[in-house]
Amino acid sequence: MPQTKDFYSVLGVGSSASQDEIKKAYRKLAKKYHPDANKSDPKAAERFKEISEANNVLSDPEKRKQYDEMRRLGAFDGGFGGFGGARSPRGPGARGASQTINFQDFDIGGLGGLGDLFSSMFGGGESRESARQTGPEKGQTVEANLDIPFRTAARGGKVPIELEVSEECPTCHGSGAAPGASLRICPECNGRGVISFGQGGFAVNRPCPVCLGRGQIPTEPCPSCHGNGEIRARRKVLISVPPGVDTGSKIRLKGQGGKGTRNGPSGDLIITFNVQPDKFYRRDGLDVIATVPLNIAQATLGTKISVRTLDGKKVALKIPPGTPSGKRFRVRGQGIEKGDKKGDLIVEVSIQVPEKLSEEQERMMKEFAESGGLKY
Ligand SMILES: [Zn+2]
Ligand SMILES: [Zn+2]
Repeated sequence: MPQTKDFYSVLGVGSSASQDEIKKAYRKLAKKYHPDANKSDPKAAERFKEISEANNVLSDPEKRKQYDEMRRLGAFDGGFGGFGGARSPRGPGARGASQTINFQDFDIGGLGGLGDLFSSMFGGGESRESARQTGPEKGQTVEANLDIPFRTAARGGKVPIELEVSEECPTCHGSGAAPGASLRICPECNGRGVISFGQGGFAVNRPCPVCLGRGQIPTEPCPSCHGNGEIRARRKVLISVPPGVDTGSKIRLKGQGGKGTRNGPSGDLIITFNVQPDKFYRRDGLDVIATVPLNIAQATLGTKISVRTLDGKKVALKIPPGTPSGKRFRVRGQGIEKGDKKGDLIVEVSIQVPEKLSEEQERMMKEFAESGGLKY
């Protein structure tokens, strides 16, 4: 989110500077940063715009008075997010909300002309979202869904993910100009990046549609981004999956989203997990259930089986004689660990009925049945 800097610090003068001092400071800076004298440095034009803006307000005693009043009210604590908004609105998280002072949050009812000033500076209401950019902007907040294996969700682990993010074009660094191309002042907005409409002694600003708010037009657009200043980039990120996540669990990774522009911080990455089913385990809260097949003889006579835990370790389990299908055996502490809680591994046996018998097995099965009173 661009910020409107404190106009006094933009001009490098104190807040009690005289009109004469302001005029001198402006002339000196305007000469130094004029785009005609800084053709190879696109940042100079940005600076020039800031300087002109600051001078526009501070050189007018009436505007300055209102500005001072707003400043006194704390609207410029760390710079306020006026003139805000991306030239291309992105995701909902892309607007760096923490840096934005919402004009509607101020109780300006009793403060006379301040409402006008606010609406002018913010471009009024929602439109401030589409005004031009001046300062560093936080990168795009990226949201992604990530499929993870059951065992990784249960025990935690690392999963790679490839993201597509909007980033500042590395060829032109966001200026939209081809390397070596010269920039000329946009004739539509005269380099201001905004089109102004008069209102209440101030201008209501709208982003210039010709230069997309940059104030300058390159003689040749950047071949990498076609003049947008932004590219779609693929980014590989290794995600640390905390243990115990379930489908729908989210994590926010600070600074892993899109890169910021003009030295702004990177955006965040928000991951929503989707846990894939496992062919052996299923989940019940923190417990993990594994179904293990037993044949009739094992269930009838009892046996020892070996069961794999989530860690891949094998534990021996004693099945007593006469175990019915569906009976559960609990292996303590081998379920999902979350915080200081730990679930169990529950082994559920399932008796398998043989579909084919050898002649001998069939003979013996019949004998078994007849001993119980049945006739074959
Ligand atoms: Zn480019
Ligand atoms: Zn323009």
